[in-house]
Amino acid sequence: MRTESGAIPFPWHGAASERQVSTGHQTPGLVCAHHHLYSTLARGMPPPPRTPTTFQEILELVWWRLDKALDLEMIEWSAKLGALEALERGTTAIIDHHASPSAIEGSLSVIADACAEVGVRLSTCYEVTDRNGVDEAKAGLEENNRFLKAGGRGYVGAHACFTLSDATLDAVCTLADELDVGVHIHVAEGPEDIDAGRRLEGRARDNWILVHAVHLDRELAGTIAHTPLSNMNNAVGYAAPAKRSNRIVLGTDGIGGDMIEAFRMTYLRAREIDVTFSPDVAWSWLEANWDLFPEAKDDRVSWSYDPMEPWHLAFTPGVRPTEVIISGEKVFEDGKPTRVDPLEVRAKAREQAMRLFERLG
Ligand SMILES: [Zn+2]
Repeated sequence: MRTESGAIPFPWHGAASERQVSTGHQTPGLVCAHHHLYSTLARGMPPPPRTPTTFQEILELVWWRLDKALDLEMIEWSAKLGALEALERGTTAIIDHHASPSAIEGSLSVIADACAEVGVRLSTCYEVTDRNGVDEAKAGLEENNRFLKAGGRGYVGAHACFTLSDATLDAVCTLADELDVGVHIHVAEGPEDIDAGRRLEGRARDNWILVHAVHLDRELAGTIAHTPLSNMNNAVGYAAPAKRSNRIVLGTDGIGGDMIEAFRMTYLRAREIDVTFSPDVAWSWLEANWDLFPEAKDDRVSWSYDPMEPWHLAFTPGVRPTEVIISGEKVFEDGKPTRVDPLEVRAKAREQAMRLFERLG
C-alpha cells in the first residue's frame, strides 16, 4: 500500500525512518493533546430547545448549558469515565481543558484525583471566560492559580478570544507568565472567532496550545492542536494543519480519548482533499504529542495488532491495547483496568449523567 517514502518537507512532519518509538506490537503511552473530560457524560443528553444552525448556537444551546449544569460530583465521574475510556484505548496522558461555571473552585483537583485513581497522567486548566461575567472570569483565573500553585500540572486555560475582554486576556497572559506555564486556548475554531489572530498576535508564546486554528488568518507562536472529529462535528471547516509552520499535535476535543481514531481521522480528513497526503505525516503529528507530555514516552502499551505502523493503522479498524504500563505500574491487563472496576465506573457515571440530564431537561 505504501506509495512513497523518504523525507517530508515540513519541520514537524518526521519521515518514517526517524521513528524510533513504535516497535512491533508495542508503543509508548499515547497522549491526547486536547480533551474536555467534563463532556464525557454529554452523550445521549436531552436535545437542545431547538436545532443549532451555527457554531455559536452549538456553544449556546449545547455546551454552555451543559457546563453550567455540572457540579463537583458530576465532574468527578465524568473525568473518571473519560480517563477510563482513554486508558482502554492506550492513552496514558491527557491534556484537559475544563469548564464548570457553577462549580469552579476545586474542580481541577477533582479531575486530577479522578485521573490519578484510574492511573492516567493529567495536565489540566480552567477555561477562563467573560461569557458569564467578570466575577466568574476572576474565579476561573483563581482556580488555575490555586491548582498550579498547589503543584498541579497544567496550563492557564482560556476559552477563546471572542468571549474574553482585553483586560481578561491580559490577566490570563500575566498569570501564565508568573507561573511560568503556557496558555491553553481555543483559537479561531469558527468564524465567530475570526479576530483571534489579531488579538493574540504579540501575546501568544511558544509554550501555548492553540486549539483548532481553523480560521486563523496569520502565524502565531505556539503549538496547534488539531481536532478533526470535533471540527467535522461542528461543521467549522478543515484546519489544513499541513500548511502551518507550527508544531502540530492531535486532540479529540472531548470526543473520547482514542488517539488511534484521532490519527485515522486526521489522515482521512487530509486525504479527502489531497490524495498525496501520507499516514506518516498524520502519525508524526501524533508523535509530537509526546513533546507536550514526555513522560508518556516511558509508558508501554502492548496492542492487539503488529506492526503499530502508520500505513497499517490508517486502514486497520479495532486495534486495541492488551496491556498498559504507566510509570512502571501495570494499570491495564487482559483488556481490563487494574485500579478501578470498569463496571462500577460506568454505573456511577450513568447515575451522574441522569442527574445532569434532569437538570438539562
Ligand atoms: Zn476544546
